Amino acid sequence: MEDRTAGLNEQQRQVVAHDPARPLLVIAGAGTGKTNTLAHRLARFVSAGADPHRILLLTFSRRAAVELERRAGRVLVAALGQRSHEAIALPWAGTFHSAGARLLRMYAERIGLAPDFTIHDRGDTEDLMGLVRQGFAAEAAQRRYPAAATCAAIYSRAVNAERTLADVLHESYPRYVEWEAELKAMFGAYLDAKAAQHVLDFDDLLLYWSHMLADAELAREVSALFDYVLVDEFQDTNRLQGAILKRLRPDGRGVTVVGDDAQAIYAFRAADVRNILDFPGQYAPAADVLTLAVNYRSTQAILDASNAVMAQATERFTKDLKGTRGAGARAALVTVRDATDQARFVCEQVLAYREEGTPLEAQAVLFRSASHSAELELELARRNIPFVKYGGLKFLDAAHVKDVLALLRFAHNPRDRLAGFRAVRLVPGVGPATAVRVLDELEAAADPGAALRAAKLPAVAKDDWAALAAMCDAMRQPGSQWPSELDGVLAWYEPQLARMHDDAQARAADLTQLARIAATFASRERFLTEITLDPPAAAAGRADVPLLDDDYLVLSTIHSAKGQEWRSVHILNAVDGCIPSDMATGRREEIEEERRLLYVAMTRARDRLAIVVPQRFYVTQQARAGDRHVYAIRSRFLTPSVCATLEERTWPVPPASASAAASPGAAIDVTRRIREAWNSR
Ligand code: ATP
Ligand code: MG
Repeated sequence: MEDRTAGLNEQQRQVVAHDPARPLLVIAGAGTGKTNTLAHRLARFVSAGADPHRILLLTFSRRAAVELERRAGRVLVAALGQRSHEAIALPWAGTFHSAGARLLRMYAERIGLAPDFTIHDRGDTEDLMGLVRQGFAAEAAQRRYPAAATCAAIYSRAVNAERTLADVLHESYPRYVEWEAELKAMFGAYLDAKAAQHVLDFDDLLLYWSHMLADAELAREVSALFDYVLVDEFQDTNRLQGAILKRLRPDGRGVTVVGDDAQAIYAFRAADVRNILDFPGQYAPAADVLTLAVNYRSTQAILDASNAVMAQATERFTKDLKGTRGAGARAALVTVRDATDQARFVCEQVLAYREEGTPLEAQAVLFRSASHSAELELELARRNIPFVKYGGLKFLDAAHVKDVLALLRFAHNPRDRLAGFRAVRLVPGVGPATAVRVLDELEAAADPGAALRAAKLPAVAKDDWAALAAMCDAMRQPGSQWPSELDGVLAWYEPQLARMHDDAQARAADLTQLARIAATFASRERFLTEITLDPPAAAAGRADVPLLDDDYLVLSTIHSAKGQEWRSVHILNAVDGCIPSDMATGRREEIEEERRLLYVAMTRARDRLAIVVPQRFYVTQQARAGDRHVYAIRSRFLTPSVCATLEERTWPVPPASASAAASPGAAIDVTRRIREAWNSR
């Protein structure tokens, strides 16, 4: 039999060889082989006779679980030779939520759950919360009462962080502190509604699991199902998940967890980095702690830049990363004019790298929020570069983008029922029944414009309806101009957006983006046609599952890039407002989490890393003032000591003669400084 641990370094071998009965924490930096070593440890258990059906493997996503199964399978095949071709099948590999769902299904009757319970995803959860919220009519009518999505978020945080409602409101939602009693009653009604409908939401999968384990008899039975419990990315588990693990294995027998505190990026979903830091001390005797020192993923140049970013962090446990792969090319800090140039630059680079032999699938483009890739998606589609996008909604799938497109289509063709059904229900007071009646009238009318104006509606709908009809009329006049007519649509939609969503500001940013994309088409008709036939996401329209053997570029939010690696990585929008996100309130912990996000993004790169900084940016706050086009400020995380590790350049490269004569580099710098000084007043 081959040595299972061939290819591992001494520290990694120690992890694999560590006493299987003792609780073990492996805390180590990015790319040091945590996940790989965990796969080896798992393979060791199996080859020593452990039953794969009795191993609970908890990962961050299904994708990560499959990858771990595959890696462990490869190790086993190598170890056992030709006898074992298949990857190990681990029926208990997956996320905490999926394991919880399975266990609850198994034990439903014992814990008073209907065995036919259904599971609500986050969208369903918000919908049901919205329905319950309507039952609290007096509160819901108040402007300051949180919207359904916010109610769902508050509830979820209280559950996952194991905090009281009062604490959650004070710490994270101070605007809504005054509603504590009402929210408490409403969440009670939400629990009743779920129970009556035999429904569990995502959080319930953890909550019921945890409560089930509080019963000594059940805890014994459930614990007896597993010989080993392995957890990857432990830094991003929340309190509830930590409690489940502890209840499942009070003495820590057979437990191995691995993680990196420097990569903790889920505090916004109530993950608690204390889980990893406090892990050893919760057992008596304390769990063993091992670490891995060398990074096998990235060139030293990329590690130097990543270390420089983390050197600014206020707190950290894991140390600087040391590489094994040689110096490599410096990571680039590329300044471009704006988002359009950023998209062009990335496409050009990606194609050039492919020419040099780096397939698209070995390249990734990472960004802070899903909407940041809108321009790039369009540019990729134009150039026929296939891509898949992970994380967040596809730009065109976002509800508010759909709303605006529906309004445009409806104005364009009032007989379009699908668009109409969406559009007219944006008017407050117009429900599905009214919408259907009006659409029927429009369909039968000779002049739909007149029918639209004449429609009989509830009094509350009157003003908004009249404005909608006027807007549609104006757009059908011969003099209507594209793309300026879109401004009229957005102006009409803006108050609806603010009424429907608490995070209207973030959504408005998407609409500004949409307007910019729209402006690149010659007419409304061309825009609507192109975006329907070949939407920005169409290249990704293979349901995120690319065909086998087909090469595709990876687009991903940083959050969804966890644990992965690519030969080349581009990071978009390294400007304040994006990284750190302007959604972070400015609290120190939130800013620190944003810094770790940049670090996670950078440490995904193996050979090449480029951080892109657009000089101009579009901010929605300025929309009313008419100036959407403002100078961006380079991300505060790119300090002089970080920049010293990077190769700075601009794209496109300025013509040589001009730069010699007028030194445009300096001019750009001064302008930016003046602008920064102005902004910080
Ligand atoms: P992250 O913190 O990003 O999750 P990680 O610590 O889990 O990273 P892995 O993904 O397991 O790291 O490994 C990073 C890369 O290093 C992988 O390509 C892996 O195959 C490689 N690697 C790990 N250990 C060794 C080794 N001993 N020799 C050669 N390559 C290794
Ligand atoms: Mg990993």
